[in-house]
Amino acid sequence: MSALSELYKEIALCRECEIAKYRTKVVPGEGPGGAEIMFIGEAPGWHEDQQGRPFVGPAGLYLDELLASINLKREQVYIANIIKCRPQGNRDPLPAEILNCRKWLDRQIEVICPKMIVTLGRYSMAMFFPGKSISKIHGTAQKQDNVIYYAMYHPAAALHQQSLRQTIEADMLKIPSLLVQTEAVPEAKQGPKQLTMFED
Ligand code: URA
Repeated sequence: MSALSELYKEIALCRECEIAKYRTKVVPGEGPGGAEIMFIGEAPGWHEDQQGRPFVGPAGLYLDELLASINLKREQVYIANIIKCRPQGNRDPLPAEILNCRKWLDRQIEVICPKMIVTLGRYSMAMFFPGKSISKIHGTAQKQDNVIYYAMYHPAAALHQQSLRQTIEADMLKIPSLLVQTEAVPEAKQGPKQLTMFED
């Protein structure tokens, strides 16, 4: 069994948070183990909870379009969320839920070893760019230990706010050149220990 399948089995057994009681399906994430790019959203919504797959509702269809704009299909990238169960009523994830679920995301990153991590929305951004504001850092990249971290708005935000559409579409178009010019991406100013994901 592959490392990812093993991990999905473990995630499916997790009942650490209250929201696990109410899930239809757990949504671990999906994509090839060798994906170069990993997109990390917030939390499963209704559609994702029904299907057990990330980004399959309206925001997901829009993400598919954004991927197509850089000649990628969703099967070529890895897509996950910072939490794996749907918060009831689509409320924002709670800090305790984010913390409990972090170990799964860390393990996914370890297995996939992506060249680039793209955060979608503020919750995902806050994990990798703590203390930053999405309106300031969207469309900018930082490098740490040879991994590029790139922040984007959440596709759902762009669906609801027409003015963000152009921004998210322009930010997506920057990804291919970032991937081929990794040496031009600035190193993160903070030491690795200060990035949330690397904290103990
Ligand atoms: N929004 C997210 O952040 N993740 C999903 O999987 C779907 C919608």
